[in-house]
Amino acid sequence: MSKKKSRVSPMIKEVFAHIFMKPATCKYPFVKAEVPEGFRGKQVFDINLCASCGLCSRDCPAKAIEMVEVEGKRRPLFHLDQCIFCYQCAESCPRNAIKSSMFFELASTDKSNLVVKPEPSHQEKSGA
Ligand code: SF4
Ligand code: SF4
Repeated sequence: MSKKKSRVSPMIKEVFAHIFMKPATCKYPFVKAEVPEGFRGKQVFDINLCASCGLCSRDCPAKAIEMVEVEGKRRPLFHLDQCIFCYQCAESCPRNAIKSSMFFELASTDKSNLVVKPEPSHQEKSGA
């Protein structure tokens, strides 16, 4: 007499095995995603450190930095819709005026949200 074959199909076994497995996907955006140390997110520009040399703009491989005039000095304006987040700009900056941030949620239907403008300095004191 032949042995009885198991009636549980391989598919059902597979389904049950996966019910108790750790999920392969994360629940973003419902659960905030953690980014690793050294992540290259949205640029942070410190106008007080900037020397207006334009090296960041010159070296940007994506031509994503436009030099614009702010308070009579040339400052970098970042077009994030062109940026490839290589951070050559920060490497080239002799004053350490460009730093990365952990901010990565940049998706937008409005291109103007993807412009990082150099804000006028508020730290420079007048008089005194
Ligand atoms: S991160 Fe790279 S692509 Fe983006 S602005 Fe800087 S140099 Fe240009
Ligand atoms: S390289 Fe640095 S100091 Fe020179 S313009 Fe760019 S941000 Fe300013």
